[in-house]
Parts: sequence; structure tokens; C-alpha cells
Amino acid sequence: MLEAYGPHEETYIRPDKQDRKGKAWQKLLELIDQAAHEQWTEFQPSKHLGRKLWEQITVLPNEIEKLTKVKSLYLYGSRLQRIPPHIGKMVSLEEFDPYTSYHLHWFPYEITRCKKLKDSRVSTRAIYGNYKYRSNFPDVSRNPVNYHHHQTTCSICECTTPQNGAFKQFWISLWIGTDVLPLLANICSDQCLQALPTPHQDYVAYPHQGGAKQIQPLSEM
Ligand SMILES: [Zn+2]
Repeated sequence: MLEAYGPHEETYIRPDKQDRKGKAWQKLLELIDQAAHEQWTEFQPSKHLGRKLWEQITVLPNEIEKLTKVKSLYLYGSRLQRIPPHIGKMVSLEEFDPYTSYHLHWFPYEITRCKKLKDSRVSTRAIYGNYKYRSNFPDVSRNPVNYHHHQTTCSICECTTPQNGAFKQFWISLWIGTDVLPLLANICSDQCLQALPTPHQDYVAYPHQGGAKQIQPLSEM
């Protein structure tokens, strides 16, 4: 008999296992430098790297923050598992297309800083808390996301010194571009927790830390 995935299975954040020494990573860094230098307005790494190298990229480099002129970010068919908070520095971003990136289950809260972002194309069935399946959010109180080579900053006030010695992570579902996306925020204090916006209706109505016991609203279908 087939075993169905119940709504109460714990889910876990995949650890960052990106190979940062290999050819794919080096090529991608070079491409980002070129795009920043030449002020590209469109960035589609798969086109330049070729499929074989592009498939070795599971995390976008922090260096994407240099792409301040890029309006369209095409990540179609990627093997990406995460995007760093640095995407918030891509202030020209209007179009965000990670369609059919089935391992991309969540996004950094910092994407809300991309104020011009109006178009997105996300494979929503893959995302945590999606409307149809209400898949569980990983418990970030026990297994927080660790960032590679990056001093964590508060997603609200951008400070690096959290109250009580540690940042707390929270999930919040917000309207980004043309989809409601699960965003992960790093929060320094109760004050910054209060400053998070109200989640989109039909989703968990407050910032939460996930886990299989987190109750989510039922879909009307
Ligand atoms: Zn803060």
C-alpha cells in the first residue's frame, strides 16, 4: 500500500552543500562580475553557463547584490535550493522568474526590499504553506537556516547585534510580485518582530517558526 504524506510530517531545511571551489561556481561569480560591470538589465545565468554547469548551482552567491541594474532575473529550471538575503540589494528588480525550480521552497524576507518587483513566476506547488497543499514549514526554532559567509543582519532594522545574543527566525507569507511567497525573516528583537507586516489573508495570520504542529488555514477546495 502506498503511504500518503500526512500533513504532520516534519520538514527540514536542506543544508547548504554548494561546491564553492568548482568550475560552475567560479564561472557564475565571473558572470556576476561581468553583468555588474557592464550594467546588464537582464540576468539569466543558465544561458551563459550552459545546462551542465547551471545544474550544479544550488545556492545563488551573495555577490548577486552587485546586480543593482538588473530588472529581470531568470532562474528557470534551476536546481536552486536557496537564494541569499542579498537579493534585497537588487533594487531595480522588476521581474523574478524561478519557474520550475522545484527545490526552491522559500525565499528571504529581504526580497521585500525590491520595491519595483511586480512580476514573478514561481512554481507554487513547491513552496512551504502553499495554498493547495499547505505543506509544512520547517521548524526554524530548532533548525535555523545558517548562511554561508554572511554576518546575519536583522531583516527589519539591519543591525548585526541581536538582543539576547541570537537572532530568531520567523516565517511569514506575503504577496511578492504575482504570488504569495513564504519568506524567512531574521529578527533581532521583539520590537522588530512587531514591525513585520500582517501576513497575507488565508495564510497563518502571524509570523511563526514552523514545525509540523503549526496550524495552517484550510483551503476552500
Ligand atoms: Zn531588528
